[in-house]
Amino acid sequence: MKQNKILISACLLGENVKYDGGHNDIRADSFIQKLLMENLLVSICPEVEGGLETPRIPVELIDNKAINQEGEDKTSFFEFGAQKALELCKQHDIKYAILKFRSPSCGSDIIYDGTFTHTFTSGDGITAKLLKENGIKVYSEKNLEELKKILIN
Ligand code: SF4
Repeated sequence: MKQNKILISACLLGENVKYDGGHNDIRADSFIQKLLMENLLVSICPEVEGGLETPRIPVELIDNKAINQEGEDKTSFFEFGAQKALELCKQHDIKYAILKFRSPSCGSDIIYDGTFTHTFTSGDGITAKLLKENGIKVYSEKNLEELKKILIN
């Protein structure tokens, strides 16, 4: 596969960077295994890169602000992490990203709705939005097949 590197959410590669100290490991997926074997994945957790600790209080987006469950505004951390992700994309000439579904940072098209009730709404996480605005195609673990079709043709 001749391909530029692809950005991926660190939690999808088993890194314990989720708000609860866990991960969302998808390394059992054969496509991800292929990308790993070809050294094509560049991982980042925008929230950790942005300066937030793990574990941390859950955050959801409310009126485009990243507000944690105790009402604290963490938007500046989220925006800083998003900038770090964009820098990484520019550094590696990255055109595609695989970002965790529904996250207030990484989520694409669908995110948690800000009520902390596991309810979803349409919208992008802060990192996903910035990457899209800069021409990077964002996929998630839910539509990997679509990316696979584009890369392996
Ligand atoms: S910010 Fe992204 S990479 Fe970090 S834990 Fe959340 S979904 Fe995973």
